Amino acid sequence: MRSLAFLLTLLLAPAIAVAGVTVTEVRTWQGPDHVRVVFDLSAPVSHDLFILDGPHRAVVDIADAELAPTLVDTIRDEGPIQRVRSARRGDGVRVVFDLDRAIDTESFSVAPNEQYGHRLVVDLQTGPATPAGAGDAVITAASAEGDRAPVRTADAAGAGDFLVAIDAGHGGEDPGAIGAAGTYEKDIVLSVARRLAKRVDAVAGMRALLIRDGDYYIGLRDRTRKAREADADLFVSVHADAFRDRSVKGSSVFVLSRNGASSEMARMLARSENRADRIGGVSLDDKDPEVASVLLDLSRAHTVEESLAFAAKVKRELGAIGDVHGSGVEQAGFAVLKSLDMPSALVELAFISNPEEERRLRSADYQAQLARGIVNGIRAYAAATRPDLRLAGGEYTVRRGDTLSEIAVRYSVSVDSLRDANNLGGSMISAGRTLQIP
Ligand SMILES: [Zn+2]
Repeated sequence: MRSLAFLLTLLLAPAIAVAGVTVTEVRTWQGPDHVRVVFDLSAPVSHDLFILDGPHRAVVDIADAELAPTLVDTIRDEGPIQRVRSARRGDGVRVVFDLDRAIDTESFSVAPNEQYGHRLVVDLQTGPATPAGAGDAVITAASAEGDRAPVRTADAAGAGDFLVAIDAGHGGEDPGAIGAAGTYEKDIVLSVARRLAKRVDAVAGMRALLIRDGDYYIGLRDRTRKAREADADLFVSVHADAFRDRSVKGSSVFVLSRNGASSEMARMLARSENRADRIGGVSLDDKDPEVASVLLDLSRAHTVEESLAFAAKVKRELGAIGDVHGSGVEQAGFAVLKSLDMPSALVELAFISNPEEERRLRSADYQAQLARGIVNGIRAYAAATRPDLRLAGGEYTVRRGDTLSEIAVRYSVSVDSLRDANNLGGSMISAGRTLQIP
């Protein structure tokens, strides 16, 4: 492998030397545990990345390349980066990141895709920031001081809660689908995910974990890893994709299938979602994902059944808000739903390729409605599978044909407490009214 790489370097080297490479753009994306720096290139490069200390610096030497200093001059105070300098060095360029602390770094090249050309990606790691790690740190600190019992103080309030992992699709380098009016899927889904998290947290007995809470990219496998490490009870990935037929609209809900897709659209969407890592810029020589998923296959059949039940509830709630696409829950081989041993679904809020839906997706009111629909589905699922939870709080908007007793059953509360919480005299309720769930 090593000699093959060497051979390739030899083969590629003359071509690069003749061509000379231009760095055309430099972008930075700041995540909770890393800053990603992306160099757009006119052709592939060979490069070298190393760390220096006293003072702390990360240095990238790019061979046979040109970079206009103005591309990096403006990068200031981003995470550990204080500023960035560049200088010519032989036939190439040296880029120096002045850092405020010692950090780990990683770099890799990314091949061109539909959105970008050749790229060099440099990740400046600023910390593990995994929920498990954070909890452990609390325990260690408490024990060391010896003044407290080693209790998981950070999690104490939420112990036993129903934890919902909310995954806003795409982010950072990967904008997701782009609407005709220029709306980015990554922005819409983050906004809805945040609204959804607030609503989940408002229900006593439930707690939200935002997998992504900013404009940065997380690899598909890291998304599931984060949910697993936090021991989430449920995983919801939120999207608003494009379809080639711009008249197609409506919300849809998907779950994982290992045996092919349930429709042409499901297949198309899974294909485009699974490309995200190539756009977002993740190391292509990533470790084999199948090891974990083979073990998880044992519990997979049950999980798919559970996922279907959960997805059906979400779809029913979304149907009360607006159009839904198709008659049921669809299945396809979505990478972001693999390696998950918890019920999981991917919600397409609407099709951003449909001009009317693009406009609605931008509205705060519609985003709030979607979040409420999804939280109602989550709540209905949680109440059905975990009757011990005694979920309290939240609200429900009455639909035509609803009865108080049905709503009471759905939320595991009594009709009387529902009446009390909403000052209802009789059993008549009008459609459109928002009920407080006790
Ligand atoms: Zn998407």
